[in-house]
Amino acid sequence: SGSKRVAVVTGSNKGIGVAIVRGLCKQFKGDVILTARNEGNGKEAIKKLNAEGLKPVFHQLDITDVASVQRLRDFLQKNYGGLDVLVNNAAIAYKNAATEPFSEQAEVTMATNFWGTLNACNVLFPILRPHARVVNISSRGGSRAASNCSQELQKRFLDTDLSVAKIEQLMKDFVASAKAGNVKAKGWPEHAYGISKIGVTLMTIVQQRQLNSDKRSDIVVNSCCPGYVATDLSSFNGEKTTDEGADTTLYLALLPPNAASPKGAFVCERNITKF
Ligand code: NDP
Repeated sequence: SGSKRVAVVTGSNKGIGVAIVRGLCKQFKGDVILTARNEGNGKEAIKKLNAEGLKPVFHQLDITDVASVQRLRDFLQKNYGGLDVLVNNAAIAYKNAATEPFSEQAEVTMATNFWGTLNACNVLFPILRPHARVVNISSRGGSRAASNCSQELQKRFLDTDLSVAKIEQLMKDFVASAKAGNVKAKGWPEHAYGISKIGVTLMTIVQQRQLNSDKRSDIVVNSCCPGYVATDLSSFNGEKTTDEGADTTLYLALLPPNAASPKGAFVCERNITKF
């Protein structure tokens, strides 16, 4: 079993995540791991896919819990000897009508969308096999938020010396200013979700640079926007179905060996898009 190929999708008990698992079950040659922070919800999703004749494997995963990510890593290592496809799909968004204070929304959104995604990467990247593919689901909302940041912040986003440590500092600064009540004065828009996705898009660029300089450039990392998709997250307002929303992610997850492009890019509707 040590060399059977394997794909993991985070937050895949519902929404676009289930559709990504469905597509991988049909197109990826290997096992597909459907993960959920809530075991019952994950197993329900497995049942539905089983009824379609598909056979994903369940594993619990809460991306904000390092021990949970480590348990998944150990499971993958033991049963597959590595990881071939990682789709970082899990995320949260407060509704416009949410009544929680902005400082709380900023902290909680960042904890899942940015820190959780980074946790998953930090724990799982070491077991990525040659030619692995990583897709970090971001959003055009991130690009929109970035264009509403101060020139000084935008310059920092585009810095060729950008590092994960510098991105972490930017995200910490945002949460700190949300708590201090001076987000706007510090050059940020009041948009926690968008800023968390700036973090995801930037993380992707740095991860590919790092892999290239570690001579692991056969591994390809991209971020993408799924488009506006009818899910709980969009209050079912999106115009795309979840299967349509999964398309670009599946394209990136299944890029052939030695693919030169897209690589370290932000991708919308299968096209490299300026951040
Ligand atoms: P959903 O709310 O339908 O699904 C989100 C999934 O993430 C759920 O399975 C949820 O689990 C899971 N999740 C949340 N927090 C955690 C956590 N800490 N650990 C593990 N899993 C977690 O959203 P979508 O399907 O719409 O979103 C999928 C991705 O697409 C997200 O990254 C989102 O930001 C992005 N996106 C979506 C757009 C849209 O229009 N829908 C537009 C742009 C980007 P649970 O069921 O337990 O809550």
